[in-house]
Amino acid sequence: MKTIKIAIQKSGRLNEKSVDLLKRSGLSFENYKSSLISPVSNFPLEILFLRDDDIPEYVQDGIADLGIVGENVIVEKEVDVTYLQKLGFGKCSLKLAIANHSDIKDLSDLSGKSIATSYPVILDKFLKENDIDAEIREISGSVEISTNLGLSDAIFDIVSTGGTLKSNGLKPFAEVMRSEAVLIGKNGIAKNPIVNELLQRIQSVLRAEQTKYVVMNAAKSSLSAILELLPGIKSPTIVPLATEEWVAVHTVIPEKDFWDKINRLKNAGAEGIVVLPIEKIIL
Ligand code: ATP
Ligand code: ZN
Repeated sequence: MKTIKIAIQKSGRLNEKSVDLLKRSGLSFENYKSSLISPVSNFPLEILFLRDDDIPEYVQDGIADLGIVGENVIVEKEVDVTYLQKLGFGKCSLKLAIANHSDIKDLSDLSGKSIATSYPVILDKFLKENDIDAEIREISGSVEISTNLGLSDAIFDIVSTGGTLKSNGLKPFAEVMRSEAVLIGKNGIAKNPIVNELLQRIQSVLRAEQTKYVVMNAAKSSLSAILELLPGIKSPTIVPLATEEWVAVHTVIPEKDFWDKINRLKNAGAEGIVVLPIEKIIL
């Protein structure tokens, strides 16, 4: 069978987390910065290290079967590929930003103005949807200095903390798109059994990331109050303790309302709560 190829970013913001996810999914490979391609020793897969901008087209054209890349790049490149899985890292937001003292107050004020960006396709779509007739100035880097240089009235770029905007005298004005890293595949590839196996493994790692394993002690008299706080989980494991009338409760708790849940368990009588990371959850 033909070896499946997955393209990931060679260096940059997505490289480390992409490598980490594949390794936690049980794949064993060398991450040499100098090589373009790395075989996986324990799975029929090869890893291609590419610039992120090239990944969507490589996957669309089948040079790679799979790819890990930001949604922003996929949308910008207007490719026809299959979204297989959101990956929860590389989160960012694409925003319009204006100078602190700008006279632009709402979206319609952008008509007749110029906007600098390295994402002309996404911006053009947004402007059309909102009936704004602005001029798009495509530039490849350092978009945030263009307004100071008098090259544009506004910018459209990736913003994560807003620190870069601030230090350039800019403020965010409107959010156009949110993005995170996603696993994409060539159309039709999802049916491939090797791709399917890899996807299952990746999903087991992602599921585990969102969940903690929790062990707590409780007097039997508090047990029903504690169990009431653990809905959705069919059967927490309950183990008797050497101390009579006491038990240990083992369960999993989602990361998102973790502290709230822990505090409520404490109030209901849980003691000696131990929290453990989970490596994988296989359904
Ligand atoms: P390459 O050399 O591969 O072309 P790049 O310089 O274009 O890399 P990076 O800056 O490494 O790209 O960003 C890769 C992706 O990381 C972005 O396309 C975006 O999806 C995501 N990302 C997350 N946070 C940020 C951020 N603060 N700034 C830029 N990109 C971010
Ligand atoms: Zn790039």
